[in-house]
Amino acid sequence: MNPFAYQRAEQAEAAVHAVSAHGSKFLAGGTNLIDLMKDGVETPSTLVDINHIASLQKVETMPNGGLRLGALTRNSDVAEHPLVRTNYPLLSQAIFSGASPQLRNMASTGGNLMQRTRCAYFMDTGFPACNKREPGSGCAALKGFNRMHAILGATDEGATSPHTCIATNPSDMNVALAALVATVEVQGPNGKREIPFADFHRLPGNTPELDTNLKPGELITAVILPAPLYDHAYYLKVRDRNSYAFALVSVAAAYKLDGRVIKQAGLALGGVAHKPWRSLEAEHALTGKPPTGESFAKAAEIALAGAKGYEHNAFKLALAKQSIVRAFTLAGGAA
Ligand code: SF4
Repeated sequence: MNPFAYQRAEQAEAAVHAVSAHGSKFLAGGTNLIDLMKDGVETPSTLVDINHIASLQKVETMPNGGLRLGALTRNSDVAEHPLVRTNYPLLSQAIFSGASPQLRNMASTGGNLMQRTRCAYFMDTGFPACNKREPGSGCAALKGFNRMHAILGATDEGATSPHTCIATNPSDMNVALAALVATVEVQGPNGKREIPFADFHRLPGNTPELDTNLKPGELITAVILPAPLYDHAYYLKVRDRNSYAFALVSVAAAYKLDGRVIKQAGLALGGVAHKPWRSLEAEHALTGKPPTGESFAKAAEIALAGAKGYEHNAFKLALAKQSIVRAFTLAGGAA
């Protein structure tokens, strides 16, 4: 591990000021960052410890019926919070499906948003070609073992292209937050702003080294959930083993009924793209339709339009479609 300096911040403003030095990073739960530092993937010059900032620790109800999750609320506390369990069961299910109890006790809401891809070529500095770790070096995954990689929204101009990246976002929580239409509250050198969740993470485009649309020095202060939108929801995670594994495909499926038809639907996929893949087109296609297998299958076709598989992950196209139908069916209470 490279040498680094350590600073502890007691206020959000002080943390933002401290991290302005080139190469500094915020430290929250550290469940991903510290691993990457040990492996030489992340080499910050300074860690600014934000764990003692009291204003980031709270879960608060909002006047509009929503819920504000402070950035330092721990994943376990959020998943077990009575208001989350009651009003946002999709979020509880997604968090409980990820990592292990010990990791969930450490991992924070803000840190979960900042998780980096688990692409093996990114995490192993022995592989020289990784545009995300070394911009311009190429992409070892494109022609390598790409079972866990993206089928939507990737940049695949060739293994030696400086833009290619087919990595996926590894988070379960992020998938639920996308379907729940959350907002991310951030504070930076130029003040505070709110980012719609759909715009927080980004596709690789021409700059795969960037995971999010955060500006330099910006600190996540909270995730805000709107008043509950749905009365049926299910988070389905398909993976190689039943615990402590990242998703091959995951689905956050939710809808609100108006009589016998769907008034509003939410659909986001995990394990298939560089960001949580919310499909507005599929959501719109479900609106006004009965919650039947036929409706869900049409939505699945729409959600996967344009998907492309690679040597080891082409199975994800059919898996994702089947998982969408299954998740919506389970959301409706059917086995
Ligand atoms: Fe790196 Fe992205 Fe290619 Fe993985 S998929 S090797 S993270 S450029």
